Amino acid sequence: MAEEKINKREIPPEIIERVKKLREEIDYHNYRYYVLDSPVISDAEYDALMRELKELEEKYPELITPDSPTQRVGFKPAEGFKEVPHVEPMLSLDDAMNEEEVIEFDKRIKRFLGFPEDQPIEYTVEPKIDGLAVELVYENGVFVVGSTRGDGYVGEDVTNNLKTIKTIPLRLRKFTEDAPDIPPRVDIRGEVFMTKEEFQRLNEERVRKGELPFANPRNAAAGSLRQLDPSITAKRKLDIFCYGVGRVDGYKFKTQWEILQTLPKWGLKINPMVKLVKNIQEAIKYHHEIERIRETLPYEIDGIVIKVNDLSLWEKLGTKARSPRYALAYKFQPTQVTTQLIDVVFQVGRTGAITPVAILKPVQIGGVIVERATLHNEDFIKNLDVRIGDWVLVQRAGDVIPQIVMPIKDRRTGKEKEIVFPTHCPICRTKLVKKPGEAIWRCPNPNCYASLVRKILHFASRNAMNIEGLGEKVARDLVDKGFVQNIADLYYLKLEDFMKLPGFAYKKAKNLYEAIQKSKKTTLARFIYALGIRHVGEAMAYLLAEKFKTLDKLMNASVSDLLSIPGVGYEVAKSIVDFFKNEENRKMIQRMLDAGVTFIEEEKKEEEKPKILEGKTFVFTGALKSMTRDQAKRKVIELGGKVTDSVSRKVDYVVVGESPGSKYQRALQLGIKTINEEEFLKLIGKA
Ligand code: NAD
Repeated sequence: MAEEKINKREIPPEIIERVKKLREEIDYHNYRYYVLDSPVISDAEYDALMRELKELEEKYPELITPDSPTQRVGFKPAEGFKEVPHVEPMLSLDDAMNEEEVIEFDKRIKRFLGFPEDQPIEYTVEPKIDGLAVELVYENGVFVVGSTRGDGYVGEDVTNNLKTIKTIPLRLRKFTEDAPDIPPRVDIRGEVFMTKEEFQRLNEERVRKGELPFANPRNAAAGSLRQLDPSITAKRKLDIFCYGVGRVDGYKFKTQWEILQTLPKWGLKINPMVKLVKNIQEAIKYHHEIERIRETLPYEIDGIVIKVNDLSLWEKLGTKARSPRYALAYKFQPTQVTTQLIDVVFQVGRTGAITPVAILKPVQIGGVIVERATLHNEDFIKNLDVRIGDWVLVQRAGDVIPQIVMPIKDRRTGKEKEIVFPTHCPICRTKLVKKPGEAIWRCPNPNCYASLVRKILHFASRNAMNIEGLGEKVARDLVDKGFVQNIADLYYLKLEDFMKLPGFAYKKAKNLYEAIQKSKKTTLARFIYALGIRHVGEAMAYLLAEKFKTLDKLMNASVSDLLSIPGVGYEVAKSIVDFFKNEENRKMIQRMLDAGVTFIEEEKKEEEKPKILEGKTFVFTGALKSMTRDQAKRKVIELGGKVTDSVSRKVDYVVVGESPGSKYQRALQLGIKTINEEEFLKLIGKA
């Protein structure tokens, strides 16, 4: 009666529609993943679709059909491969994302077996290797056939491909006295995988050849093993960890731990981190331990597999359509997620190499917020056909820079914009060059990178904007990371950006961030000097600030306006006008003003100085000991005097420092008064 009621229950049409849609979508993703080894969504997204479908089917069991993806494993063998039936089916695993789900798994088992809740169950815990499952059939110790999991019942014959993997023994042997005899037939289960290093090498090679990279080491391993030509498999370095058995003739294993202990004694490779634990809490603890060291491993793992140790309980617990009841995959945080590509910036490296960097909608990957990812070079962008606005699959593994694995073309709206590679250097505007056969565009200007670093250092220096903590190393790191391509960028950096610099923790980052904010309040003279205009030293900047009073007036001054200022020659005037005429420079200045750069009055004390040098013109030659030449010139101007660069009869004093130049000779020829540093200091009242 009750059953009838269920059957007759009305299911809302939108639920039926949703279930249908989910199945279609999951089937498509299974095809991409298992047949083409080329998924178009992240595993986390796939898992979410699968969970939604499972939940709907649990709520409305009458909707379950035998061909629902929740009832099936993997995919049937692809065409071209000989089929191999599995005597014992190769199933998938239920997964858990958090502790509660793991505890529920333990409780469910006890309920099923009729055990009291406080009776501990022994489990094995094994790293869940992110590769593909294979079965190796050994007859009388000889490897005779190897296959993929396929749909769990029938797999693909990949015997010859598996033979290229050096860690798969072609013959099992008893390597220790206490090992059981090699059974007449034993089916070994294991995971074929690719190391992270090999994965990177293979993908770099693929991108170079204009092929799409593999989404992850698992797909790369699957794509490499599922080849009709074993010589291709042989070229890819694959490896295996064995973790179980299928059919075994003539010997009965009692526990999973016994299996794990026996396989190496027969010459099979198992993962060194497998462990036997006394209860579910210990399994959870081990999960956390392994997750912590996960990134240091040379291969990918995506969780741990928890298995009931006692095999007699396996028989009692049995299996569901898709997975056994005695095992669980307790997953880690995903390392691949999808997000949106907002923009692309072009970074200039030390050698002039231009690297496109993706600016992403911030997204968490394995507990870290990712906002940028490398796009390598122009060909990579072209091959991937990635566009601004695209949803992209992003991968972060270990300390490797996050990478865009691929765009998700299915999610395009038509509003995405093509990424236009620059033709000119973003720092110095020189035309970029590319050598034939190379993928990398470079800025050929040998000074480009160094000159940007120099500009930043000059801008930040004590007599310019006086930004404490911005030394050469930091300036280089800011350029390397692409954070600063133009000095105005300094005022747009966030505290978090500084924390991404090598050697920067919160405190150091905060100090530098604050020093930059503080520098926004400055004097006009300092700012003019900081701009690094050719021929405009500290003294000239001071003079210009004195004469023009506002930045605006200086920016719009003509050559003749400037020439009317005593001490400004044609070369200087021209350089100033050219600098301010340049659109890029104007934009840069505007961005700094927009960021809040403001000018305060020059300190009063200096303004009040008596104009004791009024009417006197000075020329400097040679180095001074107590101050820079620029500081000396500035003193002269502050005290009402003039400074010029060439010696003529109009000059009153030539100040002669160490190793003077031809100006000294000229002064002697013209009979102009020469004074040394000490006399100069006396003159300005500083001795
Ligand atoms: P699974 O990978 O979650 O778990 C089962 C598999 O784990 C086994 O078949 C075996 O290969 C492997 N494994 C590794 N170490 C093991 C160990 N020590 N003991 C036992 N097994 C071990 O399940 P699945 O059915 O192979 O695949 C489902 C997974 O694939 C999901 O996580 C899903 O995200 C992903 N997937 C993704 C897409 C996509 O489009 N992104 C599509 C299909 C599947």
